[in-house]
Amino acid sequence: MIPKKIQLVEVGPRDGLQNEKLWVETETKITLIEKLAQAGLTKIESASFVSPKWVPQMKDAFEVLSGIERRPGVSYPVLTPNMKGFEKALEAGATDVAVFGAASEVFTQKNINCSIAESVERFRPIIAAAQKNGIRVRGYISCVLGCPYQGAVPLADVVNLAEQMSEMGCYEISLGDTIGVGTPLQAKKMVEAVAEKVPVSKLALHFHDTRGQALANIYACLELGVSVIDSSVAGLGGCPYAHGASGNVATEDVVFMLNGMGIETGVELEKLIEAGRFISEVFARSPQSKVSNAN
Ligand SMILES: [Zn+2]
Repeated sequence: MIPKKIQLVEVGPRDGLQNEKLWVETETKITLIEKLAQAGLTKIESASFVSPKWVPQMKDAFEVLSGIERRPGVSYPVLTPNMKGFEKALEAGATDVAVFGAASEVFTQKNINCSIAESVERFRPIIAAAQKNGIRVRGYISCVLGCPYQGAVPLADVVNLAEQMSEMGCYEISLGDTIGVGTPLQAKKMVEAVAEKVPVSKLALHFHDTRGQALANIYACLELGVSVIDSSVAGLGGCPYAHGASGNVATEDVVFMLNGMGIETGVELEKLIEAGRFISEVFARSPQSKVSNAN
């Protein structure tokens, strides 16, 4: 059954901006986040507390998170890949954090220099510290439908990691098609397999539109009852593995589709489009959203 209400998780200010080459000023990031909240988004991933050496775009994570005017009913999750990042996030007033793993062994090795099993061990102290501080932890799994290095990813690896993250205390598992290679039936099969071990109410869809499949994949998985979707305003981010290709599905396009299906998101499309245009102007381009460009 397709849910009547969907929780959108806006990932543009983090997942999107961290994959853009151009430096975006702290003030601009804060304004973007505030515009997204004004548009009705209630979950806005705002920064990543990762080493500035690795992700210079996010070096002002502390200033961004502590500089946002917090709106009641809106949460501003941040990525915390290690304890150092977690502690800084806590200091900046984080109430929601996220840890990040991949279902691909090769991707994990290349990205964070360890095995999947070792990466899971690194989550433990973060999750324990978060629980002690009353902070919710989301788990991301990338490469759920394919890996830029190893190609196919065994379904069992996705299911295992999702199950482990859930058992460790992640309240939600976001399933990411990092390179945007999935197609609808494959995506549905993947979610179905994960849902045998983790309740569907704890799953989120994170599709990339690299090959134009994101909305079709989302629709297919909504039929399984998934009610959380990650998306990025103006399709911010691009695809780090395919130069010039699109990455995150645009929030505007997701909202338009859900509106047409009579599904409630709480988002005002016009204001969202405005926020997307605001940030796209910073990059001197038009939004990577079909709906925005047709408006
Ligand atoms: Zn993404």
